[in-house]
Order: sequence, then C-alpha cells, then structure tokens
Amino acid sequence: MKRTIFIDFDGTITKVDTCAAMVEAFAAEGWQEINEKWERKELSTQDCANRTFQLIAAGIEDIAKLMGSMEIDDTFKEFLSVCREKGYKVFVLSDGYDFCIEAVFKKYDIAALYYANKMVYDQGFQIQCPHFNDSCGNCGTCKTKLMAGLKEEGSQAVYIGDGYSDTCPARHADVVFAKGDLYNYCLEQGIKTIHYDTFADILAYIV
Ligand SMILES: [Mg+2]
Ligand SMILES: [Zn+2]
Repeated sequence: MKRTIFIDFDGTITKVDTCAAMVEAFAAEGWQEINEKWERKELSTQDCANRTFQLIAAGIEDIAKLMGSMEIDDTFKEFLSVCREKGYKVFVLSDGYDFCIEAVFKKYDIAALYYANKMVYDQGFQIQCPHFNDSCGNCGTCKTKLMAGLKEEGSQAVYIGDGYSDTCPARHADVVFAKGDLYNYCLEQGIKTIHYDTFADILAYIV
C-alpha cells in the first residue's frame, strides 16, 4: 500500500514540547493564559507567539542550549528508516519553530523534510509563517493545507500527533495515530483514531 506519513514535531517526535520547554524556562508570568487562548483557538499561532515572545528574556544561545537537552522518542529513527525501506513519503508538519527542529535533527543526525514557522532573532524573537493559509487564518503552519498538497496521489494519508495543532489535520487524514490532547479530542469528536505511546506502536500497524 502507498502511504504518505505526516508527523507532528513537538511532543510527538520530541519527548517534550520544545515550545513549552522554551516558555517554561524563559517566559515571565502570563504565558499560560496566552497559551490557553491559543488552545481554544481564540488566538492565532502568530498572535500567540508574538505576545509570548514579549515575555521571553533569553537570547538565541540560551534557546540553542535548551534545545541541546531535548530528547526524541527512542524508536523514531527506526520508524523513519522503515518508512524509507517501504517507500512511504514522510513529512514533518509543525506549528512550532524551524530553529528547534533543526537543533534536534542535528543532535540526532536526522534528515527529514519539514514544514514549520520561522523563529527570527533580532534583539527580540519574532515568528514568521511562510505556510500560513488565508482561508484558515488560525495556524502559523497550516497542516491541513500542506497535507492536501503533499499527499501522494492514491496513497493513504497517515497522521501522527499529540496536541491542539493536530486537531484540524486529523480530520482530513485516512488514519490517525494519537496520544495526549489529540487523542482526547478525537474521542470527543468521534474521529476514528488509534492510540499510541511510541513510534514502535505505530510500526506494528504499518509494516
Ligand atoms: Mg505536538
Ligand atoms: Zn490551518
């Protein structure tokens, strides 16, 4: 079977959400409220990020150092190589930051195509969203639109994720593997989903 596999980054490939780690380490009080508004989709990713960045007292070296301490799912690399053997296309779709993904991929020697927001540092941090979708207006990186464009003709679209930025693309995938908030959301919304803890669980289904 032909498959196109779409994978969230934060909390899915990484053990903890790198954006959450960043604010927990460096943001002043108030970021939780902003984040909750984002989770309820009352704030777009762009607005959420720009408000949160106002609260961050750190330089790019501080973020780089923190990213160096991030860990990935122990079976992710094995998962990637099996996908390659099988000829499945793999895309990482993230409403987080290129900087964090680059740092983690470098640390673990991972080469994978990804789409994410850009984190720009010039005295303060800013977000840029090259994959914004006007008809969505909410995501920084609109995973739903990317999925539609990247899905290989005639393939099964597999989505793997854990959180609020995955709720929309999960509705448009053929098969959803979920944990955390995404899993609860799928249950509430009646979206067919398979629970997983690690990429080894997913391998058992797709090989
Ligand atoms: Mg996530
Ligand atoms: Zn969107």
